[in-house]
Amino acid sequence: MKIAILPGDGIGPEIVDQAVKVLNALDEKFELETAPVGGAGYAAHGHPLPEGTLALAKAADAILFGAVGDFKYDTLERALRPEQAILGLRKHLGLFANLRPAILYPELAGASTLKPEVVSGLDILIIRELTGDIYFGQPRGVRECPDGAFKGQREGFDTMRYAEGEIRRIAHVAFQAAQKRDKRLTSVDKANVLETFQFWRDIVTDVHKEYPDVALDHMYVDNAAMQLVRAPKRFDVLVTGNMFGDILSDQASMLTGSIGMLPSASLDANNKGLYEPSHGSAPDIAGKGVANPLATILSAAMMLRYSLGRPEQADRIENAVKAVLKQGLRTPDIYEEGTTKVGTSQMGDAVLKALAQ
Ligand code: NAD
Repeated sequence: MKIAILPGDGIGPEIVDQAVKVLNALDEKFELETAPVGGAGYAAHGHPLPEGTLALAKAADAILFGAVGDFKYDTLERALRPEQAILGLRKHLGLFANLRPAILYPELAGASTLKPEVVSGLDILIIRELTGDIYFGQPRGVRECPDGAFKGQREGFDTMRYAEGEIRRIAHVAFQAAQKRDKRLTSVDKANVLETFQFWRDIVTDVHKEYPDVALDHMYVDNAAMQLVRAPKRFDVLVTGNMFGDILSDQASMLTGSIGMLPSASLDANNKGLYEPSHGSAPDIAGKGVANPLATILSAAMMLRYSLGRPEQADRIENAVKAVLKQGLRTPDIYEEGTTKVGTSQMGDAVLKALAQ
């Protein structure tokens, strides 16, 4: 099994190092190969997604990605900025399904802005379609308004569209993910107002026939936003389109308190995936040895579960993370009085130790 390791910029290399230590401790035959990406790609080869890095990502069974971005590249033209690397990888690898678990370990309940009883033990999975919807639909632009009260003025417009095959493939990912969990799926749409999302609802309902063991319900996006803060534990898996998913997944991530705890996966049609923490390159703390590596370590666990067919190894890593939190070890972003503050590599070492037990 070949894994492309793309550490990137800022805290990327520090946190990816910890995940690599964990992967190497698993007694599996992984072939790990590292390549520069983002600002590091630009510095080494004049492009955020150098040809060699893209070739490695294509050849690998899975990709472990740190983060990209550095303010020193802000003056570069858009196509050469570090963040273009992640968009390029999504496009070239056909990564259309974004999976973001929002898990709140009971030990960290105090870190959430919501009441502990509302969020403690939260474990939901948001699945966002990543390559369609109004973000990519054509035509789009600014034109002269052709009719109505504002006829003749300039107007901005975008096009919301989803092809049947696009909805079917994300629905299959969602039903299959639900089968691996509590077997409940909520499809979030706006079928009461938008034709695109009435169509979405019809297709998801049709795909459901192939997954009779999963309970499906439909919810309008405005209600879903409300329920996510009112009673988030009512959900198991949520699936939705690109725009609604963009908003709801960020909302859900804040339920858990620290962005340093949140892994993510972006999958293609064959479950090949790119795995990365949900946060960015955190230039403000880069090089200080204080970044929380747990989101990256948990991303490696997702990689083992979804792309590499090693769910038992994923369980081992997730249990090791729970164990270090139980021991009271905390990086500064999740530190509370009465716990023990540790740095990035100490946290990685603690996970290794817990794995061995
Ligand atoms: P950020 O997520 O990098 O940081 C936001 C805040 O969270 C900072 O205070 C940071 O110190 C903290 N933080 C983030 N990860 C942490 C961790 N593991 N442990 C402890 N604290 C952590 O977001 P930003 O500051 O808006 O962006 C910084 C750079 O990252 C920008 O260049 C941005 O474009 C880029 N970015 C990249 C990705 C990606 O690579 N997928 C995603 C988001 C932002």
